[in-house]
Amino acid sequence: MNKKELLRGLPKIDEVMRQESLVVLSEEKGDLLVTRAVREVIADLRASILDLKDKDAEKFDASQLEITRVAEAAAARLAEDEELNLYPVINATGTILHTNLGRAPLCEDAVINVGRVSKGYSDLEYNVPKGKRGSRHDLVGDLIAELTGAEDAMVVNNNAAATMIVLATLGAGKEIVVSRGELVEIGGAFRIPDIMMQSGAYLQEVGTSNKTKISDYEKAIMTKGELDKGEWRARDPRRGERFETGALMKVHKSNYDIVGFTEEASLEELVELGDKYDLPVIFDMGNGLMLDMSAYGLSEPNIPASLATGIDVMLFSGDKLLGGPQAGIIVGRKKYIKAMKKHPLARAMRVDKMTFAALEATLMKYRDPKTALRDIPVLRMISASGDEMRQRAERLADAIKRVNTDITLDIVPVKDQIGGGSAPMVRLPGWAVSVRDGMKSADRTERKLRKAEIPVIARIHEDRLLLCVRTIADSEIEAVAEALR
Ligand SMILES: *Cc1c(COP(=O)(O)O)cnc(C)c1O
Repeated sequence: MNKKELLRGLPKIDEVMRQESLVVLSEEKGDLLVTRAVREVIADLRASILDLKDKDAEKFDASQLEITRVAEAAAARLAEDEELNLYPVINATGTILHTNLGRAPLCEDAVINVGRVSKGYSDLEYNVPKGKRGSRHDLVGDLIAELTGAEDAMVVNNNAAATMIVLATLGAGKEIVVSRGELVEIGGAFRIPDIMMQSGAYLQEVGTSNKTKISDYEKAIMTKGELDKGEWRARDPRRGERFETGALMKVHKSNYDIVGFTEEASLEELVELGDKYDLPVIFDMGNGLMLDMSAYGLSEPNIPASLATGIDVMLFSGDKLLGGPQAGIIVGRKKYIKAMKKHPLARAMRVDKMTFAALEATLMKYRDPKTALRDIPVLRMISASGDEMRQRAERLADAIKRVNTDITLDIVPVKDQIGGGSAPMVRLPGWAVSVRDGMKSADRTERKLRKAEIPVIARIHEDRLLLCVRTIADSEIEAVAEALR
């Protein structure tokens, strides 16, 4: 056929739409999207015919113009078009709080509760027993108080938002004293000095990179009386302006460690100093660890123990070691939390019912630590035993052998990580299946795994592809094997 004949052979949209398969599809998806897909397929065919050199027209596969083929192509295009951009993947990296893979996976009950609460209406801001308006801030307040010993709590979008609202409420127009060793960058644009500036508080750095003593904090405190007397000007003639101290702040060194000749002020010392000057002490602890996990190699501060030192305001993430949804949780003295709830930023940072639903169900697990360790995925992965992981690695290896006999597999010990900018020095002894797929390089196998129906994100170490089983759920084993078929 020549080009003219090919163009004449293009089917009409209506003809294609009458195909049985597309009639059914139109009922399901609406004919708007189906018609569009058909129109696009025909337009593409027309464009490729027009692009042909005259001598190539003969070689064009004219069967593509058949009505059934066009209908098939349109259905395929529609299916591709409807693939969602946010989809599940399998984490075979052994890094538990993988920032790129959505940080903490939720526990089953949290997921169920999100569906239960968000499908219809809820008591988000309605006090059902009293029949009047309620506050979303009260939904988890009592539960958090029970678990942590805090007087009150507030939930915002993430810990970055929590930092912002705490500083804006307690420190706007005032100085906040922070150690030079704790001026953290968490990642992206989150840096303590920058957040401080955005909040309207003035950073008062004290100490040195490696050593900060409690006396450094005390020397930096500017009381109202001292400010008014103005003698500080003589001590620091270059300084244009000083402000009254609003709070003392400690920031947990979440994602780095300072070793060697070091010193830092303890929470207890800061609380004592805060009491002496009647200043609130803020602790940005970040990771949200609720239980003592030192038995599992994780000696990070935990929430109840930190609060017990008398800290006035403490903040942490919901989706790090707490193992819940993305959130920033602020706990502490009622008077400060109350002021934050009234701050104009509170509305901009408030979380929705899905977050509360997931958070409440997650927190509920902590009423019994054994239940939390069993049901919250992050804690379960941290506390997984060597035997359990070895057995899972063996089951994974067996499943892979069943679908691909060319593959060489070894079960090897690995060092897993907490991740998510938490406990950077901790290495958890785990197990992995090391994979060599025929003559393929580790990089090629890694790419193949990413292209699987459920993409598997693996780790490459010394030119070996590793499937680290700490972060692979039992229910995912078959899918990982399938990806290597
Ligand atoms: C992680 C972290 C933050 C930021 O928390 P997001 O929930 O990621 O916003 C702030 N401060 C500290 C100390 C952290 O560890």
